[in-house]
Amino acid sequence: MLYFLSMDNLLIFERGTPGRAGVDMPACDVPERQISELIPEAYLRTVPPGLPEVSEPELVRHYTGLSRLNYSVDSNFYPLGSCTMKYNPKVNDDAAALSGFDSLHPLQSEETTQGALRLMYELEQCLKEIGGLARVSLQPAAGAGGEFTGMLIVRAYLEARGDRRDKVIIPDSAHGTNPASAHLAGFHVLEVKSGADGLVDLSELRKLVGPDTAGFMLTVPNTLGLFEKDIVEIARIIHGAGGLMYMDGANMNALVGLVRPGDMGFDVVHFNLHKTFSTPHGGGGPGAGPVGVSEALVPYLPAPTVEFDGTRYRLDNDRPHSVGRVQAFNGNFGVLVRAYAYIRSLGPDGLAAVSENAIINANYLLARLRGHYQLAHERHCMHEVVFSGHRQKEHGVHTRDIAKRLLDHGFYAPTVYFPLVVEEAIMIEPTETETRQTLDAFVDAMISIANEAEASPDVLTSAPHTTPVARLDETLAARRPVIRYRKPLTPHWRSPLTPSPLSS
Ligand SMILES: *Cc1c(COP(=O)(O)O)cnc(C)c1O
Repeated sequence: MLYFLSMDNLLIFERGTPGRAGVDMPACDVPERQISELIPEAYLRTVPPGLPEVSEPELVRHYTGLSRLNYSVDSNFYPLGSCTMKYNPKVNDDAAALSGFDSLHPLQSEETTQGALRLMYELEQCLKEIGGLARVSLQPAAGAGGEFTGMLIVRAYLEARGDRRDKVIIPDSAHGTNPASAHLAGFHVLEVKSGADGLVDLSELRKLVGPDTAGFMLTVPNTLGLFEKDIVEIARIIHGAGGLMYMDGANMNALVGLVRPGDMGFDVVHFNLHKTFSTPHGGGGPGAGPVGVSEALVPYLPAPTVEFDGTRYRLDNDRPHSVGRVQAFNGNFGVLVRAYAYIRSLGPDGLAAVSENAIINANYLLARLRGHYQLAHERHCMHEVVFSGHRQKEHGVHTRDIAKRLLDHGFYAPTVYFPLVVEEAIMIEPTETETRQTLDAFVDAMISIANEAEASPDVLTSAPHTTPVARLDETLAARRPVIRYRKPLTPHWRSPLTPSPLSS
């Protein structure tokens, strides 16, 4: 892999000269006022800020150089499991950037925002259909926010019935946000162990269920990429005891168009629009975690809801049983636009094809790699597959070494050490749009690494060998980042398999 930095290796603040500019400011289109009339003197600068003064080409070259150091889905395969790095078509970003959407002000009147309200209303109809649910609130700004909102809804529902149930059961394979959300909403969390097959152990579940069971939170497919085959029986057990079924829908991209959570017996479901419905979500946001519910829970949804009377759309704040507002205004609207554009452009058949291809691609990797890496569970998987680095560990090679070595092959590393229930876990999610050629190239790299683990483990434990920096002290790198390379990099600055001079 080659890395190109600009020749001089300067920071943006060290470039340019005073007075040099890369932009012309547009003419002022409002009456001009002195800044001192608008902002109290005490808050005004006396010295201009030290901003870079650079020409357009300097600016473009600087950021293009940096972007080439950055690995992204636009440059190569990104097999990160659990985070659902599915493909986000560019056209959805275009839709979100339409001026009618991106110039909206959140305090505009309903009269001037009918189009935006319509989009929200219709997105709710789509998610209802996809989820098999009675209604959906678009407000929560992340999956975790959807979980928390969903748990508040469960609590409000139980309280309205004078029911004092306070235990929520969650499998040991769950994402950490599940117990956190249940706990924050005032419930006590009970953990149910997974069986040897990676699925909920029904006999363990029966031991925990009782008259104090408020609900059960389950991820489908679960975080091991496995479909909970006993889901109907699980729902029967929980409902039979008077509890509610919550589905963590972060892995919905394996189900969309194929199976509906409502039909499986779930009462509350959150969607991660930024995972399943087309918002690039590296770097921490923005997101949207709509939460959908079955009929009996509709009164408790966050307010306002979006209503349509056949001619006009409006926000309904008159919802006396609502858990209240959980997000400023209408949540992350741009994420809603992308999701709407994605769903409408693919249609029901296209969405089902996305899920099918996600499942086929993951099972292709499973089939090709199972002879080289130990499979966590001997079953077909859904959209992601979990291996264990158990065999390689016998040669002194750990999963993190395998992940680091993949970087030398030009691939981003899969998710490692999650789920926690698998020793030396390697979790691969290929995404639905990758070609057979790309998957094969990745498999070849993984096989060559498995062979290296036996023949020359040192190469792995000292990897990566071709990246600008090798193994950083991760804590120190976050606390005291060194943003300048000590040496300018050139395209041929170092050949593979020689130790990095910058690795310390
Ligand atoms: C990502 C994820 C979450 C949390 O979603 P955020 O949008 O990151 O808050 C919850 N559960 C599972 C299984 C996830 O993968």
